[in-house]
Amino acid sequence: FQSKLPNTKVTIFSRMTALAQAHQAINLSQGFPDFDLDPRLTSLVTKYLGKGFNQYAPMPGTMELRRVIAEKYRSIYNLNIDAQEEITITAGGTQALYNVIGCLIHPGDEVILFEPAYDSYGPSVQSFGGTVVPIVLEAPDFRIDWDLVKNKISSKTKLIIINNPNNPTGRLLDAQDIKALEKLFSEHDIFVLSDEVYEHLVFDRKKHISILSSSLLRERGFVVASFGKVLHATGWKLGYVVASPFLTAEMRKIHQFNVFSVNTPMQYAIAEYLEDPTYYEKLALLFQQKRDYVINSLRNSKFSTLPCEGTYFILADYSELSNQDELDFAIALTEKHKTATIPVSAFYSEAKNQHLIRLCFAKKEETLEAALRNLSRL
Ligand code: PMP
Ligand code: GLN
Repeated sequence: FQSKLPNTKVTIFSRMTALAQAHQAINLSQGFPDFDLDPRLTSLVTKYLGKGFNQYAPMPGTMELRRVIAEKYRSIYNLNIDAQEEITITAGGTQALYNVIGCLIHPGDEVILFEPAYDSYGPSVQSFGGTVVPIVLEAPDFRIDWDLVKNKISSKTKLIIINNPNNPTGRLLDAQDIKALEKLFSEHDIFVLSDEVYEHLVFDRKKHISILSSSLLRERGFVVASFGKVLHATGWKLGYVVASPFLTAEMRKIHQFNVFSVNTPMQYAIAEYLEDPTYYEKLALLFQQKRDYVINSLRNSKFSTLPCEGTYFILADYSELSNQDELDFAIALTEKHKTATIPVSAFYSEAKNQHLIRLCFAKKEETLEAALRNLSRL
């Protein structure tokens, strides 16, 4: 057997969650909320299950849900997105990413991505025969040097992947970054995949800038989103892709033979639930309070936190406590101090130790309280 992904192991998220369970540790590692869904959402699902919405949805998703998504882009970003031709509902952000990469990448194509990088990008590219060209960003700012990006572009470059807001850094791209990206696009015939799954988790009144707000990037761009982050329902595995009609048609050729269509009753339930456009503001506030609670609680500890502008992750520096590498530190923290986190080195392809762990703060107050008590004792 010739492995397509010889260097790929079971993901760090599965690994750390299993370790947390084995040691009865509080799990701030894998990113998922530990609180319940809004009961109104649950009862909407029951309603549509009971009304017989239980057969295949249309291949690109129900029109009801696609219309609600288009309306969101109109009300929040003042953008016109065609629900019929530019939105496709997928089995979560992960399948959305795979569809996009699958429709673009031919063997030998190069894909530029920024590390720390979400773990699915590299293996997805490799599984279609593409080559990853990583650009390493460093703590504490993780700023992108766009001149360096320009130098990494070759005749084989097909795609740049960005993740904004960024998991794990919690940083946002600003207007200058988007301008720099546009400049590259005016000079090179390449595509952009913008993973915007945390677009609604942006704090301190900062604004998320979608690539869709740039007409140049929109022409050659794909945006990936996830309902898991928006509804506190990561197990539902529902998300979507936004792209121009031409790119959408190409991407759907992959989508229709990968999954064809996704969960019908939940699409109807989500469409009805998200009719309220103020929902997203409340969501950002909820997570901002949790972020602030973590920052304040760690003030008197030996951990120092890095700035977090968005997502439900925050990075903590443990260099005052230990010189261990990040994986060893995270394992010891789980086993001895009953708190599971993610080593940031897991998001880099080459070994790197910045003494950083990632904490997920999408947790109930009592979970965060107990975890922070553990961390403050060190
Ligand atoms: N992209 C990023 C940056 C993520 O953090 C995640 C999962 N948390 C995904 C994509 C995948 O989303 P989903 O769980 O909807 O597959
Ligand atoms: N995206 C989640 C995280 O960053 C994990 C999703 C997964 O386990 N694949 O923690």
